[in-house]
Amino acid sequence: MAVVETRDLTKVFKEGQLGAVNNVNLETREGEFLVFLGPSGSGKTTLLRMIAGLETPTSGEILIGGQVVNDLSPRERRIAMVFQSYALYPHLSVYKNIAFPLKAQNVKKELHKAKVEWAASLLGIGALLDRKPRELSGGERQRVALARAIVREPAVFLLDEPLSNLDAKLRASAREELERFHRRVGTTTIYVTHDQVEAMAMGDRVMVLNKGVVRQLGTPTDVYDNPADTFVATFLGSPPMNLAEIGDVIVGFRPEHFRPAFTVTGDAAPFRLKVENIEYLGSEWIVSGTLAGGKLDGKKVFSRLSSAQNLQLAGMYDFAVPQRELKFFDRSTEKRVEPRSVSWQ
Ligand code: ATP
Repeated sequence: MAVVETRDLTKVFKEGQLGAVNNVNLETREGEFLVFLGPSGSGKTTLLRMIAGLETPTSGEILIGGQVVNDLSPRERRIAMVFQSYALYPHLSVYKNIAFPLKAQNVKKELHKAKVEWAASLLGIGALLDRKPRELSGGERQRVALARAIVREPAVFLLDEPLSNLDAKLRASAREELERFHRRVGTTTIYVTHDQVEAMAMGDRVMVLNKGVVRQLGTPTDVYDNPADTFVATFLGSPPMNLAEIGDVIVGFRPEHFRPAFTVTGDAAPFRLKVENIEYLGSEWIVSGTLAGGKLDGKKVFSRLSSAQNLQLAGMYDFAVPQRELKFFDRSTEKRVEPRSVSWQ
């Protein structure tokens, strides 16, 4: 039985407007870390808030543990939510912050101490219980928010961009900590982010949303290597997949699949590139420019190369992309289609 299930879940905020969430069908797997990924306004938060019971669906059903919960309050849903802001109570100690949901749920007072200490030790904040939130670092505050979420042993965690307030360095370590925490606790988790790196790194599965519609649900490898459509293809990857229209298909090739032509054997798409910009990123180079000759003459593309030391601005170089790395999309539906052979000349 899925921990969380949605059936044709829809939210229209104003009649006559497009839905913020449209007919979403979803089944989580026991213990998985599922990420909702999409650009700003794609409906991720609205979907999460409906599951949490903070937003009323326009139509459709939400099930938690096999039970329809549409009419249950957030408190009755066995969920715990951690927000971007953490929403800790500033005047309460860490201990009291963590114990707060127990109090709200009328858990017997004599059980509080053991539960708070268990949650705090899981997150390595046992030594901070007497402090106030203002005396904590951003990462420590996040841990307190998580401890407060797990203390009542929910069936599911709902996390809405919990790392977005942290600086880049802290974000990376907080991300790792969250992954470790999830492995240890094993609670089914839904995590909202617009950051593709976070989604790829953390998700067992990633659900890509755009305009309230699910574009693809799959493992990180699935969505990256086999994008269902051109939206997913270009939303994931930095720089994004190059797309070029050839006849009735759109051909896609990722920047990292460009190779110097002389190194490629077997079937490959040939690309003559006029180099217009070179960025050195330490471990790799991003080289962009326009294609010259053939059907894609004048097309702007990005490549990612392990070395670009021999390339010069305005120089012309022959590259190739192995045939097996090309993706094909239908020009009108923009959905992925079977590979086919195309003529580049
Ligand atoms: P972000 O990453 O910016 O938080 P999101 O993917 O979480 O975006 P939502 O916040 O779910 O997107 O918003 C989806 C759509 O619904 C947007 O077009 C938004 O403007 C609209 N929307 C959200 N909340 C409301 C509301 N209370 N009233 C009217 N429209 C809303």
